[in-house]
Amino acid sequence: MAITPHLSPKPRVLVVGGGYGGYHVAKRLQKKIRDRGGIVTVVDPNSYLTYQPFLPEVVGGSIEARHALVDLRSHLRHSEVIQGKVVEIKHAGKTATIEGPEGMTFDLPYQDVVVTAGADSRVFPIEGLGEAGIGLKRIEEAVSLRNQILERIESAALMTDADERRRAMTFVVVGGGFAGAELIGEIEDLVRTAISKNPRLAQSDARVVLIEAMGRIMPEVTEEQAEAVVEEFRARGIEVLLNTSLSSAVDNHLKLVNMSDQSDAGSFYADTLVWTAGVAANKLAKSTDFPVEERGRIEVTPTLQVSDGQGGVAEGAWAAGDVAAVPDLTGDGPGGFCVPNAQHAGRQAARLAENLMAVRFGEGAVEEYYHKSLGTVAGMGVGKGVGNPLGIELSGVAAWLGHRFYHNYAMPSLERSSRVLGGWINEIIFGKDTTQVKELETPHNAFREAAGLERLPNRMDVKKEASDA
Ligand SMILES: Cc1cc2nc3c(=O)[nH]c(=O)nc-3n(C[C@H](O)[C@H](O)[C@H](O)COP(=O)(O)OP(=O)(O)OC[C@H]3O[C@@H](n4cnc5c(N)ncnc54)[C@H](O)[C@@H]3O)c2cc1C
Repeated sequence: MAITPHLSPKPRVLVVGGGYGGYHVAKRLQKKIRDRGGIVTVVDPNSYLTYQPFLPEVVGGSIEARHALVDLRSHLRHSEVIQGKVVEIKHAGKTATIEGPEGMTFDLPYQDVVVTAGADSRVFPIEGLGEAGIGLKRIEEAVSLRNQILERIESAALMTDADERRRAMTFVVVGGGFAGAELIGEIEDLVRTAISKNPRLAQSDARVVLIEAMGRIMPEVTEEQAEAVVEEFRARGIEVLLNTSLSSAVDNHLKLVNMSDQSDAGSFYADTLVWTAGVAANKLAKSTDFPVEERGRIEVTPTLQVSDGQGGVAEGAWAAGDVAAVPDLTGDGPGGFCVPNAQHAGRQAARLAENLMAVRFGEGAVEEYYHKSLGTVAGMGVGKGVGNPLGIELSGVAAWLGHRFYHNYAMPSLERSSRVLGGWINEIIFGKDTTQVKELETPHNAFREAAGLERLPNRMDVKKEASDA
């Protein structure tokens, strides 16, 4: 349904995506643009930024879900915030088409556009994967995954069929990059703690598996560090299957292939399957009239201006973060481009905001984006981690503290980072929180039952019916 909403008539800087990059662009520009008679408008399907580096800890329970989010209206008070999805950008006419709630559609004119729509899970065409798996890019996924793990453990405690119990107690992550390694560490911690509180279960009932197609995990750290992490994971009872790939996941029956010779690498059932094997630029990039490179990212120059495809730049068009192919002038980036991470997205946002002011208002100078990586730090459960911040190799408690310190600093706003810090302090005092919130997918069931109606099935019920059939 096409509508004409009441929106500001002022010249607009349209920020597409209020995630890590978009938030920082808007924060830096909102007052400057307002003072020059314009307005910054942020459009995002969610009214919040998701701080994705905290998602593994949301699964583990160290961070409360809402605390990993930053409310855009509270923290971008001088911007116009629209909860909607940009479905098309016609830069030739300087308009974006927005799909709001309930199918409301409208065109939004702009003077400058900044595309920071991020990336989605990169899912391969593996049979059954779409039905059996879940990603870890969104808060809902983290919350649902956490509850599913705890629900499976509770259900398994009452199961008498050994195969069913094994299946319920098998937790698999595919993809041994940073996100996958952090996640499997958090899952193992959560599972062990939940089992230790449940006398019907033994630690040996749980199977926690990390599957990685390459011969090593975590390309972001040195080979020696990655090997040490694998050793530590194995000592914790996590199975790390290297050179192994998933070939089928129909009805949660996972079939594996050895990547070295494509031979059969076994199969097993797992109710919990998480896919963290990479990201792909947001598909929105292809619904624009901007040039897009082979990996689906918007082509930009080192000044973060969208290129016009003919060696110049498209006037009034900018992009940064995971959706953009930003040249890495340090020469370190694979293929010559910056890797998709928050470290780059936040800094690109700052440079982009400066450059936009310089081009639009002649204030300051246009400069190329240059950032030498500060290294990385990963947390893998309480007191465990690995990293190489500023070239210093860290592991164990030191890396874990480094991870918490860095991300609490990088989390936008004092208000949000204080809430996260408060949760961490509570965890140290009271221990890991293993409270499960049931029926999040079907919250109406209690009232439906009271009204004499049938219960609606949740995801686990549907899966069970499919595998019983
Ligand atoms: C589990 C996990 C752990 C990570 N850990 C680290 C880490 O330790 N260190 C690190 O540096 N990086 C880490 N990253 C990567 C980092 O979070 C991203 O690189 C970063 O968030 C990219 O910022 P962005 O602004 O490009 O995209 P995002 O932060 O993803 O923001 C994109 C925004 O665009 C919105 N959007 C999407 N489609 C549309 C549309 N059609 N219209 C309007 N808005 C739209 C989305 O809702 C979202 O808010 C991690 C990522 C994950 C998933």
